Amino acid sequence: MPGKNIANAAPLSSAEIELRDELIADVQMLAGQIGERNMARYPQLNTAADFIENSFSRAGLQTRRDSYDLHGRACYNIAAKIPAAPGAAAPLAKPFGVSKPPSTILIGAHYDSVLGSPGANDNGSGVAAMLALARRFAGKPAQHTLRFVAFVNEEPPYFLTKKMGSFVYAGRCKARGDRISAMISLETIGYFSDAQHSQTYPAPGLGVFYPRVGNFIGFVSNVPSRNLLRRTIAIFRKHAEIPSEGAALPAFIPGVSWSDQWSFWQHGYPGIMVTDTAPFRYPHYHSATDTPDKLDYDRFALVVSGMEKVIQALAIAPR
Ligand SMILES: [Zn+2]
Repeated sequence: MPGKNIANAAPLSSAEIELRDELIADVQMLAGQIGERNMARYPQLNTAADFIENSFSRAGLQTRRDSYDLHGRACYNIAAKIPAAPGAAAPLAKPFGVSKPPSTILIGAHYDSVLGSPGANDNGSGVAAMLALARRFAGKPAQHTLRFVAFVNEEPPYFLTKKMGSFVYAGRCKARGDRISAMISLETIGYFSDAQHSQTYPAPGLGVFYPRVGNFIGFVSNVPSRNLLRRTIAIFRKHAEIPSEGAALPAFIPGVSWSDQWSFWQHGYPGIMVTDTAPFRYPHYHSATDTPDKLDYDRFALVVSGMEKVIQALAIAPR
């Protein structure tokens, strides 16, 4: 669903400037100070986990470490939960309908980086956004439970395998019978370009319908999650000050499955990915030069502030 192309973004509001400064600081911490973080850089991987856990705690959130064993070493998914308000009036889904128990809206981002890269955009940007959003919803219970999760081991050699942190996590959700109505994967969301031909596509035909300039944020899902995708984009476009494009595509098209939403699809949950399209736009993708200075923090902040509105709307939707 191609969107309108807005040439110039509006100047940032004071709330967006505050948000931007948080994003700068957290990307700097993850990719600048901690740097490469994965099983080959295990101490750094755990320093990142500690940093994320402390960030949740400082926001007043209850955190939880979910561990699993990989090659004899513990790996952690770090989660923070904002339970649905106990006494909140549940609007009825349909006339004369019965209100259902609250479901969970899960906002996730992987915190490991690929071998040889400090991972500023992939995925320091997603983690910084997830933390900024968690701070904004802390202490504000809604109709649905919000869960913010930092996933370990998304990158190769675990990529699209059962060893991914998000695959383990989604499997445990399924086993517990968690009702997850939306999984939103924040994956590489901080790079934008106004240059002609700065945007490419995984399938040649898509370039006919979608812009060639990489100045938008992308929303991608598999076909079964298309309703969640449409709703998300509709809310985002109502509020956001940055162009957006979206597509519900068969999961086999390269790129569609390329993050933690895949793990939730495997367990029957609807999920979408928010992304700047990573390898199809970002020249520093999976390289040593994916450093904090490459990101466009103004537009990155507009994306996150738009996502705040999306989560707010999903969190108060009828049960
Ligand atoms: Zn990634």
